[in-house]
Amino acid sequence: VDLAIRGGTVVTQDAARRILRADIGIEGNRIRAVGVVPRAEVEIDATGSLVLPGLVNLHTHAAMTLLRGAADDLPLEQWLRERVWPIESKLTESDVRAGVRVALAEMAAGGTTTFNDMYFFAGACAEETAKAGLRGAMGPPFIDATTPEMPPSDILGAARAFARRWSGHDHVIPTIPVHSAYAVSEQGLAQAALLRRETGARIHAHLHETRAEVYETVGHYQARPFEIFSKAGLVERSIFAHGGWLTKGELETMAQAGSSLAHCPVSNFKLATGGWVALPEFWDAGGTAGLGTDGAASNNTLDMFETMKFAALSQKQHRWDATVAPAQKVLDMATRDGAKALGLDAGAIEVGRLADLIVVRGDRAHLTPRNDPVSLLVYAARASDVSHTIVNGRVVYENGLHPTLDVEAALDDAAVRSEALQGR
Ligand SMILES: [Zn+2]
Repeated sequence: VDLAIRGGTVVTQDAARRILRADIGIEGNRIRAVGVVPRAEVEIDATGSLVLPGLVNLHTHAAMTLLRGAADDLPLEQWLRERVWPIESKLTESDVRAGVRVALAEMAAGGTTTFNDMYFFAGACAEETAKAGLRGAMGPPFIDATTPEMPPSDILGAARAFARRWSGHDHVIPTIPVHSAYAVSEQGLAQAALLRRETGARIHAHLHETRAEVYETVGHYQARPFEIFSKAGLVERSIFAHGGWLTKGELETMAQAGSSLAHCPVSNFKLATGGWVALPEFWDAGGTAGLGTDGAASNNTLDMFETMKFAALSQKQHRWDATVAPAQKVLDMATRDGAKALGLDAGAIEVGRLADLIVVRGDRAHLTPRNDPVSLLVYAARASDVSHTIVNGRVVYENGLHPTLDVEAALDDAAVRSEALQGR
């Protein structure tokens, strides 16, 4: 084997959710052995640590790290229209690259191996992601506004070219981001549906995030955003972010259509979006829900450990029921369910799966004693406890070092660009 991880407690996240004391052998980009592993080219000593599948951030806007802290303590509509969109209108492709590099560094160091993105200059994001060796799902987003990248009339052509360029790539999964029912015209939705028929790529959209979004859309189009997506033929096998204002009936229809939810509890809390996604009913209907951080302008980190804890706690508090959203189910959301939503052969440590996994150090006071590894990961661990992040069989983060990314240069560049952007 090329890479061996030895001596760790392996939280496999397989069908039986087994937790094993085992070595892991990786050959190329796949897991080849779980158990006894021969000597490898690269050896990682995970004694005393937890080994688990890499985390999947199912909804983010990576480049928005540049806007971290640029607009806090505002309701979503005002935050978007008065602060975020005016700053974004001045973004350049180089700015987006700089923001994406910071996001890649933060995600790799925090155990995220795959992210599902939505932002303009997706080509630049794809190139940076491939260089850094993480996995990203993305594409040029459909939106009815002239972005710094292109006018709406160019999006279909650009999205076709993106899908062709990145189809089958190890690190980039082409998707069809559709901003939302309120920011995309009927024609844009029809183009997205056409592109999905041509490429089979997944739709990724914001849906029912706030009450205002739902009722303003009803006022304008006499239909709820979910109905608009349904009529456009966009609810099969899609990924919908937020969903706090979806009815239980809408969630059931979504589950039956094989669409997934990307639940973003931290961003929802910060923007005070109100309504809370009915996960128990969605699960009962057979739905798959993953977890997202959303962008760093509304979170303000890309920390999936914090997101897991928020997801569990917020459901319990909302339902007055501590048994709702147990730790094991929430860890599933961040690993195997997120991978399933993207159609990615990862999310569990099993022979044959893609080698996307992380090591979490156990030698910390807040991770002692180890009564239940799953409880520790969801309720006690922090992103800074990650010691190793491996994507596609390659180490992309190891004890503070990023072998695939010049982090010092990335952070300096982002700081300079963010300041210039605010003044532009
Ligand atoms: Zn978002």
